[in-house]
Amino acid sequence: MSGHEQDESSEELSPVSGVGESSVDGEAAGDPVDLIVGIDLGTTNSLVAFADAGGSRILGVGDPRADNDQADLVPSVVRYSSDSVEAVGAEAAADLKSHPTRTVFSVKRFMGRSHADRKAEALVLPYSVVEGPRGLASVEIDGRIRTPQQISADLLSHLREQASAVLGWAVRRAVITVPAYFDDAQRQATRDAGRLAGLEVVRILNEPTAAALAYGIGTRGTGETIVVYDLGGGTFDVTVLEVIPPDPGDADGESIFRVLATAGDSNLGGDDFDRALIQDLIDEAVLDGDPAERARRLAILREVGARAKEALSDADATRLVLDGGGVLPDVDRMLTRSAFEEAARPLVDRTIDACRRAVRDAGLETSKIDQVVMVGGSTRMPMIREAVEKWFGRPGYVALDPDRVIAMGAAVQGSILSGVRQDALLLDVIPLSLGLETAGGAVAKLVSRNTMVPTKAVEMFSTSVDGQINVALHVVQGEREMVADCRSLARFELRGLPPMPAGIPQIEVTFNVDANGVLGVDAVERRSGRRARVQVVPSNGLTREEVAQIEADSFTHARDDMAVHRVVDLAVNAALDVKWIREALDRVRGELPSSIAEVVDSQLAVVEVFIQSARKDPRSVDADAFHAAKDSLDKSSMPVHEASITRSLRERDSQND
Ligand code: ADP
Ligand code: MG
Repeated sequence: MSGHEQDESSEELSPVSGVGESSVDGEAAGDPVDLIVGIDLGTTNSLVAFADAGGSRILGVGDPRADNDQADLVPSVVRYSSDSVEAVGAEAAADLKSHPTRTVFSVKRFMGRSHADRKAEALVLPYSVVEGPRGLASVEIDGRIRTPQQISADLLSHLREQASAVLGWAVRRAVITVPAYFDDAQRQATRDAGRLAGLEVVRILNEPTAAALAYGIGTRGTGETIVVYDLGGGTFDVTVLEVIPPDPGDADGESIFRVLATAGDSNLGGDDFDRALIQDLIDEAVLDGDPAERARRLAILREVGARAKEALSDADATRLVLDGGGVLPDVDRMLTRSAFEEAARPLVDRTIDACRRAVRDAGLETSKIDQVVMVGGSTRMPMIREAVEKWFGRPGYVALDPDRVIAMGAAVQGSILSGVRQDALLLDVIPLSLGLETAGGAVAKLVSRNTMVPTKAVEMFSTSVDGQINVALHVVQGEREMVADCRSLARFELRGLPPMPAGIPQIEVTFNVDANGVLGVDAVERRSGRRARVQVVPSNGLTREEVAQIEADSFTHARDDMAVHRVVDLAVNAALDVKWIREALDRVRGELPSSIAEVVDSQLAVVEVFIQSARKDPRSVDADAFHAAKDSLDKSSMPVHEASITRSLRERDSQND
């Protein structure tokens, strides 16, 4: 693995000759021919993203029939007939088993490598890897030899066509990512693949650098040292990057991302966690039978193992049901997260060992690391997040989807190179207020707009319903008083509180916005110590124009909004009071003059009408009238409270006697 290298510098920006050639001079920035997409050309899956002033978004280039969360992934799989491409992506992947010798996957492992170098790896693949031109590892199908570049080009052509269809203009320029440890030959092979696919590859970008850019690291001219922890399906990579800001005099200079060290394990990934979860079933499955039979059993087990493992990232336990169909024993068992974590502990430790090596090789200590960026589907496992947090002494960045963050960052790089990014928000300040939904759909603002980052705010909340054991938290952004008029950022739940009456739990909520504008929200219930948290990038998908519009709206509605907020708060408080007064009145009615009880009854009814209308449509309620009604109720119910207290004291005394 190479120790010390930079992402390619701007002199590599000149267009590659051949297809996709465009004159860089003289064309207006923003002209579609100059726009640049980001491509994550992955071992297993590939993605395309595009960034405009509102930030980066993944394009739906995958199979539209796929599950919602898969429709933007293209499996890195190509099937060939003897002389042409037969299927690419999801279609090729789906029929892989029917055409094992003609379907190529994981070709990234062979990019720019010699056949001699990759012989061992080639042996376990169903397609034939042979020595091609210049001794390079190549694929032979029906007597025809294709280089990894050509195969990757077929994949990239497909991505280019799909992306063009989604965007509505012809995609011709791209930033393509590669692992940080790729050497020159591997980078050149990737570049060639792009050219063959009709793309001008404006930059080959390191995957960890892309992940950092997706989080805005290095886009606002500050220097820092970061670690990118990438745990995917079959591989683990950790990279230490130094972000060097551009010269202050250089107006449109870019930060340089220098790789200080890399470490990892090309045979450690999510697959190993699947195995750890159901090791005993796997051991049993390989006891007897011919190799094909055993391979089939393993494939089935891996599939159910992976699904169960993924379920355990969200739940404390999951049920694994397997109809063995005569091939495997039937299984029906509960799997718990704690047992899984124990079995997988050695795997987690191996990733931390690699982090230790990388940080040491970089000549650093963890205290010198400013951020840890989490990449790869396997970083969704809570045990991974905990281990990383424990070792580095800070929570990793998990706000963006770990499967998509590399493509998103590649697109950010593309937007910087094309000049589109100049319109993006610069986030030395918080562009819009950040808050939390409270009862009745109102917003409690914790951090107000234009606060400098980093910043932190803490506020106490409670429950509004008796015996609540789960509390839903909703993080919003905007200047209006009601949630309905704000942007929703994230929802999460604080679970497992001991049942307590409304208003008793003490929920401390902390909003922490760091220097990169990443918001961490922590909620802890003080008595029980239960906690939950979430992380988001509030500026994602937000443009300057939108911010300006949101500000303008807030002025227009300021007066209305205040009134509505007041009505909602009144309704919440009044509901608690009404409940309390009614209970007290029921207990002491016999001890009160009936005239007093009647007045309280009728005022309770009036206030309840206000509460009902406020719940239906707070804008229809006159805040002053509501307030006056609640005030009269408070006053006229004094004798009820007094009688209730007297009675409580009496009861206590009689108990003590
Ligand atoms: P690669 O980069 O190797 O192509 P990915 O980054 O896409 O891989 O990660 C794939 C791995 O992530 C698989 O092992 C999959 O089981 C795992 N994974 C995806 N979602 C979850 C989840 N919610 N919990 C645990 N593992 C997950
Ligand atoms: Mg990956």
